[in-house]
Amino acid sequence: MEAKSERAERAAQNELLFRAVNEQILQMTERFRAQLSDIDIVCECAVASCVGTIRITAEEFVRIRRETGTFFVLAGHEDTDVEDVVGRRNGYVVVRKQAVAADA
Ligand SMILES: [Zn+2]
Repeated sequence: MEAKSERAERAAQNELLFRAVNEQILQMTERFRAQLSDIDIVCECAVASCVGTIRITAEEFVRIRRETGTFFVLAGHEDTDVEDVVGRRNGYVVVRKQAVAADA
């Protein structure tokens, strides 16, 4: 069985990668923001093969992403061993990373 710390580290790396992707999506979307109220972001869960998307309002994404260590995952994709659920919405979950000893 894999050590929890290794899993947490990999999860953090995946989440940072997907967060970067979503930042790009947001930037591309922002110019159309007047016309678009919803954006489709990728699930930020720890599963590298996950290609799930989450429909979310741009406002919600901007509001929650300001909180350090919070990520969006599809409902059921949360890993409560390494992250805490801080909010449940329609079809997705907001999670916050638990403190990891090593810096990502
Ligand atoms: Zn996922």
